[in-house]
Amino acid sequence: MTIGKVFLVGAGPGDPKLITVYGMECIQESDVILYDRLANEKLLNYAKEGAELIFCGKLPGKHGVIQERIHELLVEKAMEGKVVTRLKGGDPFVFGRGAEEAEVLVNNGIPFEVVPGITSGIAAPAYAGIPVTHRDHATSFAIVTGHGREEKGQDFLNWSALAQGIDTIAFYMGVGNLPYICQQLIVHGRHPDTRVALVEWGTTKKQRTVTGTLQTIEAIAKQAEIAHPAIVLVGDVVQLREKIQWFEEYKENIRS
Ligand code: SAH
Repeated sequence: MTIGKVFLVGAGPGDPKLITVYGMECIQESDVILYDRLANEKLLNYAKEGAELIFCGKLPGKHGVIQERIHELLVEKAMEGKVVTRLKGGDPFVFGRGAEEAEVLVNNGIPFEVVPGITSGIAAPAYAGIPVTHRDHATSFAIVTGHGREEKGQDFLNWSALAQGIDTIAFYMGVGNLPYICQQLIVHGRHPDTRVALVEWGTTKKQRTVTGTLQTIEAIAKQAEIAHPAIVLVGDVVQLREKIQWFEEYKENIRS
């Protein structure tokens, strides 16, 4: 039997219309779709009849085990000759472990393609009315994991470089770590009054945004009970929201 093919597809940040045309074609033509919690389930309505839909968030086991099981499933299904879409939130190569999956496919001689997606660190701010760059306010932008903590030995970030050298920083997986992130940036030289926005469930109907400064955002986030998934966006560009916010005001009317 001929080997199938795997498409590592970015589903976009949440609004189902933000998937690419090519990503949508992959969904429509696949025999098997393995999808994550952060990929909008509405996209599965476009799968062909009889397609096998596997929710990776419900696979049994701990994080590492689940990832191994995903690898096994990708290989197994492709070996059966199936066309497989691996659907991930945002972009598959931005904190999506897409590269690990690609490596497994290479190691097993399985053909694959990567279909980029719109990443949440840019899209969630955009839907909150915040551009990540701006001629007057930001000429550099970094995508950073907010997950690591020093006391757990997981923090490999160059905080002084981030604090002093980058205008806009999008922290992914950072809500739980917000006090630590703000503290590190201040300690390493960022002004305590630097603006911060948190965008929860960006680009979806559930989107909520709160803003403050490195000094005040912790209390504001706590009060609003902002939770995962959210982007922590740091930088002067956050002030532009006051003028150009658009989505939250009429999202009820424009998106189904
Ligand atoms: N590959 C994804 C990121 C996966 S890591 C991408 O490119 O967007 C998971 C983190 O992404 C979450 O902790 C959160 O910080 C961010 N995220 C994903 N979807 C989001 C959304 N709709 N709104 C806000 N943040 C989101």
